[in-house]
Amino acid sequence: MGIEDLYPPQRLVAAQRATAAAGLDALLLSPGSDLRYLTGYDAHAGERLTLLVLPAEGEPTLIVPTLERPAAEAAPSTGVRIVDHPDGTDPYPLVAAALGGPVDAVGLADRMWAEQVLALRAALPDARQRLASEVLRELRIHKSPAEIAALAEAGAAIDAVHARIGEWLRPGRTEVEVAADVAAAIRATGHVTVDFVIVAAGPNGASPHHGTSDRPIGTGEPVVVDIGGTMPSGYRSDCTRTYVAGGRPPAEFLDYYAVLHDAQRAAVAAVRPGVSAEAVDAAAREPIAAAGHGAAFLHRTGHGIGLDGHEEPYLVAGNDRPLAAGMTFSVEPGIYLAGRHGARIEDIVVCTTDGVRRLNTTPTELIAL
Ligand code: ZN
Ligand code: ZN
Ligand code: ZN
Repeated sequence: MGIEDLYPPQRLVAAQRATAAAGLDALLLSPGSDLRYLTGYDAHAGERLTLLVLPAEGEPTLIVPTLERPAAEAAPSTGVRIVDHPDGTDPYPLVAAALGGPVDAVGLADRMWAEQVLALRAALPDARQRLASEVLRELRIHKSPAEIAALAEAGAAIDAVHARIGEWLRPGRTEVEVAADVAAAIRATGHVTVDFVIVAAGPNGASPHHGTSDRPIGTGEPVVVDIGGTMPSGYRSDCTRTYVAGGRPPAEFLDYYAVLHDAQRAAVAAVRPGVSAEAVDAAAREPIAAAGHGAAFLHRTGHGIGLDGHEEPYLVAGNDRPLAAGMTFSVEPGIYLAGRHGARIEDIVVCTTDGVRRLNTTPTELIAL
């Protein structure tokens, strides 16, 4: 599938319709995943203003710094009118001009910089500011076949890195040394950026978002390796496996790893259309709690993934939203024993019309290196 399948121009029309239905006059999207989703443009985020002005009705305008114009014109989904502003001029009057008249309510990209939010408030003093996610969340949560293909490609690329961990992860090497080799492999498998590399050995494995450290990896220590990056498509990978480098891990670790393995499998198996996000979380949590480790599973079971590494839907207690075909998310329960060790197993999955498809396919058993 080509890039034009990933970023179809008619998405702008669908977004305009949804903008009108939400009672908004326009979306104002600064560089980030929403802008890329609608235009294919992977815009540079800087102090100069880049902004897609998408009115509920009428022609969209992409406002860019003059020096970014060639990059904007080269974006895959063209056809949007581009207006540029040279350095030293005030770009904000261009926003009002692109809107063509007074507006009551605008939806801003959720992660727009505060300095731009405030400048837009000054430029459009009568417009209430709301979040663009009110409109775009529903569009982005349902992935197209091309998006699922892009996520599958990302999954295969990160699987190829996990399949080679044994080349780099050895007792005596530090987490930082292992992570440097892993990061190079993430690039070598086709990712354009390395988004994170967690190599967490022994007690560091009990901290879910530990990065790396200069601590050497001990013989027989469990090591949590959680890695991900962004592909040229814009879509992301994210996969965790737990390893043991040489020697035998502690018996209590082997006991709870078996529980975790069953819990992750049960949660993946629970995924199908109509099942709620929180039911999948519960499917992971119940066997872990039954084994007495409920408090040690200290985060939600998963998060959506696409152009953002973390997006809707979130698999968490309280989210009763039914899953639907085309939703993509992680299933990643973990057990963390402070001061000792931890484990996590993470796959990206797609909810299909009749069940689930895993986009990470390397074995989820504890891997002895
Ligand atoms: Zn995380
Ligand atoms: Zn992860
Ligand atoms: Zn994740």
